[in-house]
Amino acid sequence: MRFDVLTLFPEMVEQFCDYSIMKRASEKGVFQLNVVNPRDYTLDKHKKVDDTPYGGGAGMVLMAQPYVDAYESIDLAENTVTVMMSPQGEPLTDNIVNELSKADQIVILCGHYEGFDERIRDIIKPHEISIGDFVLTGGELPALCLIDAVSRKLEGTLGKIESAEEDSFSNGLLEYPHYTKPREYRGLNVPDVLLNGNHKEINEFRYQESLKRTKERRPDLYEKYINTSCLNN
Ligand code: SAM
Repeated sequence: MRFDVLTLFPEMVEQFCDYSIMKRASEKGVFQLNVVNPRDYTLDKHKKVDDTPYGGGAGMVLMAQPYVDAYESIDLAENTVTVMMSPQGEPLTDNIVNELSKADQIVILCGHYEGFDERIRDIIKPHEISIGDFVLTGGELPALCLIDAVSRKLEGTLGKIESAEEDSFSNGLLEYPHYTKPREYRGLNVPDVLLNGNHKEINEFRYQESLKRTKERRPDLYEKYINTSCLNN
């Protein structure tokens, strides 16, 4: 997997991928990160990448030429998906992350200020993705959410790929609660079933906890899960 990120703030993206699990994964070659700064492609002698909006209004708009030229400088693989981070995009879900993880390359456009000149969308025709119904100052954090979530699905990023397979959303439910040492902390004990070594019982306990949690916290997911299970049985 190769991620190409178009951003005016390359260090924000590079630094995130230089820590912890992401750092190990990139060192192992699970993914490659290439950061492209549209400012390097501007034809303006002052390296201007934004300008005031036609029609008036607050904020600055990202100009089409530096973004389109920066995008066209990237070598695209056959199986490439181009994504624009945008609060107006399709909400990011585990299903979309799974689909994206099948690509060979993901090119990500990060906006800033008021956002993109509409002609960037018209020319590049990206898939627009949102990380939620709120507005951030820039697309770097959303891009990093996407890169992180996709990387977790790639063989070699996590110690055990099962960690991702058991995570919340992967089977339609929220994950069960976890405990580690010590057995007792401030009068709170680890459930006995987790200590008895009987994996059938442990799995059943975890499944029931998963169901309970999902029903309490995400009734929408619970309904969907129950209806799908009924259809399959
Ligand atoms: N004026 C735009 C609007 O109202 O739709 C918002 C622009 S926002 C301040 C600047 C940039 O941050 C966007 O172009 C996008 O790249 C990124 N961004 C902000 N919120 C986001 C979200 N919820 N999901 C994905 N990207 C987001």
